[in-house]
Amino acid sequence: MISIWEKNHWLKADVLIIGGGIVGLSTAISLKEQQSNLDVLVLERGVLPVGASTKNAGFACFGSLSELCADLQAQSPDEVLALVEKKWKGLHKLKSRLGQKAIGFSFSGGYELMWESDNQSLSRMQEVNSLLSPLFPKNVFSIKNQWISDLGFSNKKVKTLVFNPYEGYLDSGLMMRKLYALATRLGCRIFTGAEVTEIETGEQENIIRVKNALQGNEIEFRAAKVAICTNAFSKRFLPSADIQPGRGQILITKPIENLKLKGAFHFDQGYFYFRDYQNRVLFGGGRNLHLEDETTSEFGTTAEIQSLLIEHLQDTILPGQAFELDYAWSGIMAFGPNKNPILQKISDRVFIGARLGGMGVAIGSSIGESLAQGILTDQIDNF
Ligand SMILES: Cc1cc2nc3c(=O)[nH]c(=O)nc-3n(C[C@H](O)[C@H](O)[C@H](O)COP(=O)(O)OP(=O)(O)OC[C@H]3O[C@@H](n4cnc5c(N)ncnc54)[C@H](O)[C@@H]3O)c2cc1C
Repeated sequence: MISIWEKNHWLKADVLIIGGGIVGLSTAISLKEQQSNLDVLVLERGVLPVGASTKNAGFACFGSLSELCADLQAQSPDEVLALVEKKWKGLHKLKSRLGQKAIGFSFSGGYELMWESDNQSLSRMQEVNSLLSPLFPKNVFSIKNQWISDLGFSNKKVKTLVFNPYEGYLDSGLMMRKLYALATRLGCRIFTGAEVTEIETGEQENIIRVKNALQGNEIEFRAAKVAICTNAFSKRFLPSADIQPGRGQILITKPIENLKLKGAFHFDQGYFYFRDYQNRVLFGGGRNLHLEDETTSEFGTTAEIQSLLIEHLQDTILPGQAFELDYAWSGIMAFGPNKNPILQKISDRVFIGARLGGMGVAIGSSIGESLAQGILTDQIDNF
């Protein structure tokens, strides 16, 4: 049973945000930055966020050369450029909002390892550099084969190393803690362990039902506006949404003495990615090679992908270097027919920002800003 105090002061909000990942928190922060007296409540189903925002690799990146070449097959050059610009601006927003040092943000450089079969992407390097030239003062991509052995890779396997000075990485755990802290400091309320089961839209307000496991019933919250920021888990609220879940698996080694590699590395159109973290190698990917199994919203790791990652560690990333695995984890992303996120007003009082693919660290702050703007003005412009 609910008391009058709870009903009046705990269960009402001006804007209720479902999902405490990077998009939910960024939306909450942007709302309060623009209208400080707004009562903003974030409901997160997990004790910790349970999606992708605290499970990712922390790459601060906007696309490797082969990934952008693949994007250019599916989208127009203007569309590809527009998405790179949003990621680039999103990264700067994140950095300026939270502080570069505070979230371990380093522009250590991005690298792509290329094999013999990657010649087609290499032949388009100048074209892609020209496309990106309105955004960056110097060429984004250049070849740095002289660094292949310095970074510990084998020249036999890695035929070309493409360098991008504008990329880097951050510490996703710190990023999310800082987002939580900033949202709280601005006066947002964040309830964890609050799984929303249903949104009932009304003329004046929405009723949002939340599982109350302790008492075996549901609690009703009321809010003038609702923002759905549940990414891969959004079909529960919007069954028609064109969203496919995609699991990403990551492993991490124990600290390695004299580790040579430093930076954010990709290969195979960004489907594989690795970086250094506290003298360890953090390595993830391979989803594309087991697409059917990995199109799931179930967390977990599989022997197939883990052995694929270990094989690449032995043969390509740490050839001839001793290493021990520490452990592995997974996170769930959201994909669609193209790379554009869903940013939409569903009804007069319900909005959604979702389907961030593998780019939420880069683009999450921008999505939050646009979603907040849409909620405040009742209108969402194309992202
Ligand atoms: C393995 C992996 C590696 C990645 N690496 C990178 C990278 O290096 N760089 C990059 O830019 N991006 C990367 N990404 C993608 C990035 O992490 C995501 O795009 C981003 O975190 C999505 O943020 P979000 O807030 O939209 O979703 P999420 O982080 O999934 O947040 C959604 C939240 O909603 C909550 N929720 C769901 N349903 C409910 C409900 N019914 N009630 C209440 N709460 C609910 C969930 O618990 C979750 O916390 C990676 C993702 C994965 C999985």
